Amino acid sequence: MAEHKVVVIGAGMAGLVSALQLANAGLQVTVVDKAAGPGGKIRQLMPNGVAVDSGPTVFTMRWVFDQILAELGTKLESELTIHPLNILARHFWEDGSQLDLFADPAQSLDAVARFAGRAEAERFKHFCQTARQVYDTLEGPFIKSPSPTMGQMMSSLGPRGLATLASVGPMRSLWNSLGRHFTDQRLRQLFARYATYCGSSPWEAPATLMLIAQVEMDGVWAVEGGMHALAACLMRLGKARGVNYLFNNECERVELNQGKVSGVRLAKGDSLRADSVVFNGDIAALRKGLLGPSLQKSVSDKLPPRSLSAVTWSMHADTGGMSLDRHNVFFRNTYASEFEDIFTHGRLPTQPTVYVCAQDRGTGTTPEGAERLLCLVNAPARGDKTQSEDELQACAQSSQALMAASGLHLKLESTASCIRTTPQDFQQLFPATGGALYGQATHGWMAAFARSNARSQLPGLYLAGGSVHPGPGVPMAAMSGRLAGAALMADLGLTSVSRKTVTSGGTLTH
Ligand SMILES: Cc1cc2nc3c(=O)[nH]c(=O)nc-3n(C[C@H](O)[C@H](O)[C@H](O)COP(=O)(O)OP(=O)(O)OC[C@H]3O[C@@H](n4cnc5c(N)ncnc54)[C@H](O)[C@@H]3O)c2cc1C
Repeated sequence: MAEHKVVVIGAGMAGLVSALQLANAGLQVTVVDKAAGPGGKIRQLMPNGVAVDSGPTVFTMRWVFDQILAELGTKLESELTIHPLNILARHFWEDGSQLDLFADPAQSLDAVARFAGRAEAERFKHFCQTARQVYDTLEGPFIKSPSPTMGQMMSSLGPRGLATLASVGPMRSLWNSLGRHFTDQRLRQLFARYATYCGSSPWEAPATLMLIAQVEMDGVWAVEGGMHALAACLMRLGKARGVNYLFNNECERVELNQGKVSGVRLAKGDSLRADSVVFNGDIAALRKGLLGPSLQKSVSDKLPPRSLSAVTWSMHADTGGMSLDRHNVFFRNTYASEFEDIFTHGRLPTQPTVYVCAQDRGTGTTPEGAERLLCLVNAPARGDKTQSEDELQACAQSSQALMAASGLHLKLESTASCIRTTPQDFQQLFPATGGALYGQATHGWMAAFARSNARSQLPGLYLAGGSVHPGPGVPMAAMSGRLAGAALMADLGLTSVSRKTVTSGGTLTH
């Protein structure tokens, strides 16, 4: 099998993991990416010449990477320096209230009791138990399953799992469900925000997405060198196993021979022969025919709603007036208008929630002088349309006013200290997405089952990334990379997981 050639299009998280896994199994793997280096959405920008993590910042579900690296005979701690965070996130509201959530559940319980009273803390405790049960129920039959269907999942849940799902009410929205857990609207808002981790509105996401809260409560880590170090680490391990990486190389077409993948053509004019291709871009690009008209039918032609995009500001700035932690969220006293603006009106929110990652904090150090910040607000994925500068400016001013209301003042040395990224910029980086950063929105209780799985409808073409099952987020994309690699190897007869087993929903065991 060593002569079996695989081209992986995209060095995002899923592409890096697939490449590594396939090379480790002895296949000849080439990764092509139009970007200058690995990581995809995991990227750094350089305001004032200082490297700022400008994509994902919240590192969760480290067990996914523990498993990936264990299969390679190494471990996370041997390859990277990572620090568990004591404070998961610090939350501020316009009315001046503030709440930290901690890695230690007892500390969180105390904090919620001080914030909203003993009775609400009891409700918080009950919410945590429910979120844990939902996570435990869905981890095997959904998250780890290569290709879950509603029917197959239901039959594998067992009476306890079914009872858990029934108690949550999977057809209820997350917002609605949280209203049954909390009387304090601030806590309802805080936990509703987890729907945005997969680019969705809490009003349309299913209640089961409360499992994302559990993922965060299970631990958040800071990676020394930034999230980018994780991508660099996977590439280093891939190189050691013979993966060839070609950056600044856009793939403009997947070539076919007799209806089967036979290679890729690069925009620079070269062609690479391939027996199999793993596509790590957003599958919207395939559907749109960007990789060739014959690939349009390789994925479902249903047009699901796009997930959230964002406007981000990567900064090197002085901060003052209050104490930030590493992960900070600034909330308004009302929440609904943000999602109405984005999903109903297709415009930037006039009242955005603001997330600030203060990347020099949270690991025992306090920055002196200017520090590295990523500020993010959610935005509609309309980056393929024109965006008015006035609307962007209004969003920036509204965000700044919200932070100032909580006492945070930012001081930039010069215009070079801040780099803005808009949905238009994200659309350029991730074609056919309109700037959507999380694949399709998880709106409605069946949405999670509508994602493509690792096998496309075209022989030899495999799919991996945030637009594919199990969905977006760094660890989930890594899992989809594993699933694509596993499906490819199973189809080559290289593993004991047969095609039948994988498609019928057995969990990934290797
Ligand atoms: C601002 C921001 C904040 C986020 N915050 C978090 C967070 O805190 N925690 C978290 O877990 N997740 C977060 N996410 C989501 C997370 O980053 C993504 O879900 C994940 O990184 C996606 O990985 P992927 O495998 O889908 O690849 P992507 O990152 O989408 O990379 C795909 C790669 O394919 C390349 N490509 C596409 N088409 C072609 C082509 N034709 N030819 C060559 N190359 C091509 C692209 O250049 C790109 O490098 C965030 C994302 C963003 C943007």
